[in-house]
Amino acid sequence: MAGHVTAKLKRTLKAMAVVVLIAATAILAARPFVPFGGGDGPVDAAPAAYVDMDNEGTVRAQADGADSEIEDRARRPAETVVQVGSGETLMDLLGRAGVASVEAAQAIESLISVFDPRNLKAGQKVTVTFDPSPYGFGHGDFRQISLPSDAFRDVAARRRPGGGFQAVESKRQVTRQVAHYSGTIKSSLFESATAAGVPAPVIIAMIKVLSYDVDFQRDIQSGDAFEVMFEGWYDTKGKLVRHGDLLYAGLDLSGSEITLYRYQDGQGVADYFNGKGESVKKALLKTPVDGAKITSGFGMRHHPILGFSKMHKGIDFGVPPGTPIQAAGDGTIEMAGPNGAYGNYVRLRHSSGFATAYAHMSRIAQGVHTGRRVMQGQIIGFVGSTGRSTGPHLHYEVLVGNAQVNPMSIKVPTGVKLAGRELDRFQQYKRQSDLLMARIPPATHIAAETTKPSGRQTN
Ligand SMILES: [Zn+2]
Repeated sequence: MAGHVTAKLKRTLKAMAVVVLIAATAILAARPFVPFGGGDGPVDAAPAAYVDMDNEGTVRAQADGADSEIEDRARRPAETVVQVGSGETLMDLLGRAGVASVEAAQAIESLISVFDPRNLKAGQKVTVTFDPSPYGFGHGDFRQISLPSDAFRDVAARRRPGGGFQAVESKRQVTRQVAHYSGTIKSSLFESATAAGVPAPVIIAMIKVLSYDVDFQRDIQSGDAFEVMFEGWYDTKGKLVRHGDLLYAGLDLSGSEITLYRYQDGQGVADYFNGKGESVKKALLKTPVDGAKITSGFGMRHHPILGFSKMHKGIDFGVPPGTPIQAAGDGTIEMAGPNGAYGNYVRLRHSSGFATAYAHMSRIAQGVHTGRRVMQGQIIGFVGSTGRSTGPHLHYEVLVGNAQVNPMSIKVPTGVKLAGRELDRFQQYKRQSDLLMARIPPATHIAAETTKPSGRQTN
């Protein structure tokens, strides 16, 4: 039956392609394939037409004789792009694409010599290639599975002519470039920078370095401006495949400017510095919780539970329960545990002469014990409402000696301040960065090779 149909198709295809294809549709209705177009429109045997990732794997069969367009298309390998489902393995995926399990297992066994299947991510695109169909529609034998293994490499398992599969690894053509974006802030930096085309991880890095100087809740006004420069690896189509370091972050806050440069010092240590060569890092973070809103400031207030006026010796941040609390600075844990009206409480001693305390936590983070060291930004607990508290919030105190001070009015010491030759070197780097930024029109990127500021050169 099948042989008869094949022979008939081959004989009549060139002359009466459309009529025969309609007949074939009826005869082989049970076989899954893409419906044919009507009239003399294109007929695609492949489920979808995709540009070949490399020519080697998809050598196009030459149409013989009359060179019918229909026949030519039918003889191309069929590429299907399949998206990895949540929790799906390569075996599941190949099965879903219509590959027999024995062949799928062979292909995967070969692929694992160049690809760790644990790196397969949900949503990732995998290309499954089949030979052209001998019938002129549907697909032939499974030929290849290929996927990007990281931002720079593609891997594949390809059917060997003599049987079995062969692993192939190819480097993608990417170049390191420097990108420059700027814009006006409407509601938030995140929203406006995203709208301008800045990749999310770059914006997060920007917020992180700027947050030593900027309170994102209160300092940013509509109409303020941002500017950013970062490194990235771009493919031949100009698509960002991986972002690199944030090189510059700038904010113009109602006329007051913050400019931060990523500078690598003579010892090769990179950090962010303002225009005067001062490290952005402060001994203490401005707020120990993200997206913090102050609900009660430092000073006299009518106490909601005790019912009389009392000195409020800290700052209350109104954030949802469970919000992670970060250590405001590097330090040693002086106390961690239940502490009366403070509820679950952590106190840190910092080298700068300050101590910080965090109260009413729902729970203290694992590993936070008296005597241990913590790093600035490390999560030490989670917001709650333990102790004498009317609702979830973080009660935060800064202590000098053993006395609480207003965290908003203290002068927090900064980190490194460049001086002497190092400051000269920084100033030169800064000038080159500014010139480079002026050369890159906003929302574009240029090759990094021609742009490397001398501050980043070796020797
Ligand atoms: Zn409080």
